[in-house]
Amino acid sequence: MKVAQNQAQLIGGTPVLRIPSLSKLTGNDIFVKCEWANPGGSIKDRAALSMVTKAIERGDLKPGMTIVEGTAGNTGIGLAVVAKSFGLKMLAVMPSGQAIEKQRMIELFGAQLKLVKPVPFANENHFYHTARRLGEEGKDFWWANQFENTDNLLAHYENTAPEIVDQFKGDLDIFVCSAGTGGTVGGNTKYLKEKVKGIKCYLVDPGGSGLNSFLRTGEFKSEGTSITEGIGIMRETANFKESQLDGSFSLEDSLHVSLARYVQEQDGIILGSSSALNLAAAFKLSLENPNQNKKILTFMCDLGERSYSKMYNDDYLTESSINYSMSLDAIIEGLKKIAL
Ligand code: PMP
Repeated sequence: MKVAQNQAQLIGGTPVLRIPSLSKLTGNDIFVKCEWANPGGSIKDRAALSMVTKAIERGDLKPGMTIVEGTAGNTGIGLAVVAKSFGLKMLAVMPSGQAIEKQRMIELFGAQLKLVKPVPFANENHFYHTARRLGEEGKDFWWANQFENTDNLLAHYENTAPEIVDQFKGDLDIFVCSAGTGGTVGGNTKYLKEKVKGIKCYLVDPGGSGLNSFLRTGEFKSEGTSITEGIGIMRETANFKESQLDGSFSLEDSLHVSLARYVQEQDGIILGSSSALNLAAAFKLSLENPNQNKKILTFMCDLGERSYSKMYNDDYLTESSINYSMSLDAIIEGLKKIAL
């Protein structure tokens, strides 16, 4: 039996789950890689570990220093877990208005939390610029810079994607996921395209994000908004640049929020908000290729208990005009209408 010596050593090696209901409905196998099984509860533990270990190896991050990062929450939690394991301190700069569950977890894992007003990226006070300034001004601070630091995507190129190839013995037809920093999509698609013959890779974008339009037209344009957290961007990051994609599409909240309720009822799976979007995208791609025994994979980036106050809060959804009770037929019809 292998015994971990600290929590950071538990990061990675996550299991894969076949979704019974959606696989049966479409005659394909729809899988999720369960990233909530990481010690900090999300896929961002992987990026945190990679960025920190490589910075220590380079000598940029030394004992006694404080890691600082701008985060929608999960990277802050991941860095807090890794910081404790390595005897470092952690300061997370987070925009207010994200799910309260993530703020609480950052502090419970022992990091300091600085909340800033949510403002557009161009504003100096955006959480990204605030974290960068703190990192540049304090000599004992090290700024992780998850958006532009490609040690983020290397977590996936060196670990996540090789795990996938191993778990599927190289037999996978379709991969789809969304992007926050682009590390997940960048690192995984780069490796999968190299190693899995014929695999098709897609990006799914939430409302309010410009990546789908950028990939189709070269211009960042967005429509609507989304309750999803930690995903969607309006610029091309160094991590996203490495993506190897065959296509992209956008999904509006009502479709994936309603599908999350269906999967909850059928399979007892409680999806986080980006996971709901990812799974709805995998379901759409399965509907495009019915009854072909295709193997389709996406990520379950975190659990719904981290978005309980929004995704599974009927009052919040009603106030936000998000329909959470579409019928399965209406969801399927909505998904089929979206052009690939
Ligand atoms: N899902 C969740 C729940 C996240 O917190 C994030 C990152 N903030 C992502 C997906 C996107 O991952 P990446 O930053 O690697 O694009």
